Amino acid sequence: MLELLFLLLPIAALYGWYMGQRSAKKDQETLNNKFSREYVTGLNFLLSNQQEKAVDLFLSMLQKQESENQISVESQFEAELTLGNLFRSRGEVDRALRIHQGLENSPNYSFEQKLLAKQQLAKDFMAAGFYDRAENYYITLLDEPEFAVNSLSQLTVIYQKTKEWKKAINVTEKLLRIAPQTERVPLSHYYCEYAQTINEDEKSFLSCLLKALEYHPNCARAAIMFGDYYLNKGKYPEAIQYYQRVLSQAPDYVSEVLEKLKTSYSELDDLTNFELFLVKANQIKHNSSVDLALAEFIEQKDGVEAAQSSLYQQVSQYPNMITFHRFIYYQINEAEDGRGRDSLVLLHKMVGDRIQKGFQYRCLNCGYQSYRLTWYCPSCRHWESIKPIQSLAEII
Ligand SMILES: [Zn+2]
Repeated sequence: MLELLFLLLPIAALYGWYMGQRSAKKDQETLNNKFSREYVTGLNFLLSNQQEKAVDLFLSMLQKQESENQISVESQFEAELTLGNLFRSRGEVDRALRIHQGLENSPNYSFEQKLLAKQQLAKDFMAAGFYDRAENYYITLLDEPEFAVNSLSQLTVIYQKTKEWKKAINVTEKLLRIAPQTERVPLSHYYCEYAQTINEDEKSFLSCLLKALEYHPNCARAAIMFGDYYLNKGKYPEAIQYYQRVLSQAPDYVSEVLEKLKTSYSELDDLTNFELFLVKANQIKHNSSVDLALAEFIEQKDGVEAAQSSLYQQVSQYPNMITFHRFIYYQINEAEDGRGRDSLVLLHKMVGDRIQKGFQYRCLNCGYQSYRLTWYCPSCRHWESIKPIQSLAEII
């Protein structure tokens, strides 16, 4: 029964509007009766699941009213437009399309009204997943000043879905020219995405990354890509420069560059500066992956006892499973053979299994979790909202 009521909602809304229009007119009792009969017929169609016939009947009622000068062309247009939108919002896109296409093709409506119908048709095709059809409508609306901002915004959504990054860049840059308040973070990622598709053309690749940093100076992704580029070329000082930049741009992502930084510093035989970087990183924002790297470094330099002592301080101050797991490992090495040591080994294995099964990244906006870093959250559709869990101050 609830489903039926839900089904009737757009028709009820339209009928409410229709009756409101009619009550404003006096001396129309005969017509009212006639339309009421048609309304009941329409309801019968709905109740017998003949919704197409019901929609046709209600639309013809509106058209009859218009021909009898009971309502203005404008009011009828608005009513039909709204009815189509209601169907779309309920997921009945085929009906929404039929109504909006009728408006677009009708000889009764003005150029401006047809632009509105085109805009709704574009939304219908978006809802149906026909992005090429929606794209065509939005492109035809670009030259109309009132529709340009919305059309450009929707085109960026389409090109993001279809992964046409060059087009996404073009429309977003046009959008920025007419709407300077437009968010720039997505544009920097379009440049990074596009750069990945043209990485054989080094000059274009590097200029895309520069553009990404120009639009979003804290784009850690572009800095990491720059660092990777120089690391692959064996240009370690340049690689270090970009990897270290992540710390001031977005310290949450520092775990993504630790191994690469260590490799670069090792190649330069300069691990002391790697240690300084780790100390500085934890001063800026605590990160359990930095704790582990620091413990490993101290262990190699000063021995297990010094590493254990450093890690103990971190575990006490920032308890979490990742550092705790390493801490137990050090405890096992110290423990004497016996039941106590066996228990520590078991605990170490259990915690290790739990860490391995756990997600490595989480979206701070919607809670979506994943095993690998993605710069775009597929759940809430935000850029840069997914962070490494090691950077989050919590017990996992
Ligand atoms: Zn999300």
